[in-house]
Amino acid sequence: MADMKALYEDLDRILVTKEEIAEAVKKLGAQITRDYAGKRPLLLGILKGAVVFYSDLMRFIDLPVVCDFMSVSSYGSATKSSGVVQIRKDLDHDITGCDVIVVEDIVDSGVTLNYLSRHLINRGAASVKIAALLDKPARRRVELKVDYSCFNIPDAFVVGYGLDYNEIYRNLPDIGVLAPRIYEK
Ligand code: 5GP
Repeated sequence: MADMKALYEDLDRILVTKEEIAEAVKKLGAQITRDYAGKRPLLLGILKGAVVFYSDLMRFIDLPVVCDFMSVSSYGSATKSSGVVQIRKDLDHDITGCDVIVVEDIVDSGVTLNYLSRHLINRGAASVKIAALLDKPARRRVELKVDYSCFNIPDAFVVGYGLDYNEIYRNLPDIGVLAPRIYEK
């Protein structure tokens, strides 16, 4: 526990508590269940940041779902988007005719999901919707419709509940603003 306490000390403040997250994810699962009634959506998780959100969300969707994952990157280890999207791990499924729900941790500039949505439609998806845990609307650089999002947050670099800085902090149960001294040093 001592190490986890040290991780919490790297935060300026907690932005969203684990209780608030649990409530919002449950609500989102119920909404997706209603919206996709009679369908079998393909839940496409974006590695690695979305894994915690994904695994919680899928258990609140009361429908048969197909699971798949992609790894894309526009970031490296810095805290600002490069604007260049690279596919590191592709889908396992043929998505022709599928109703795809892209499950993402956070929408920032929108560059990653703008690219990915077009890419999935080009590959024959019947529909593509975006479910993001967090949205930073103030940072948007390209137009993007975020169909489902749990929380709008201010322009700050956040970690926890799957989100990392240099691969650390993903297992924090809460979401917090990382103190700038951590990434500016
Ligand atoms: P976008 O293409 O929308 O600019 O970037 C989306 C990706 O950038 C996210 O999937 C995430 O990996 C990363 N990202 C954007 N903002 C943050 C943040 O505040 N914290 C962390 N840990 N990653 C972020």
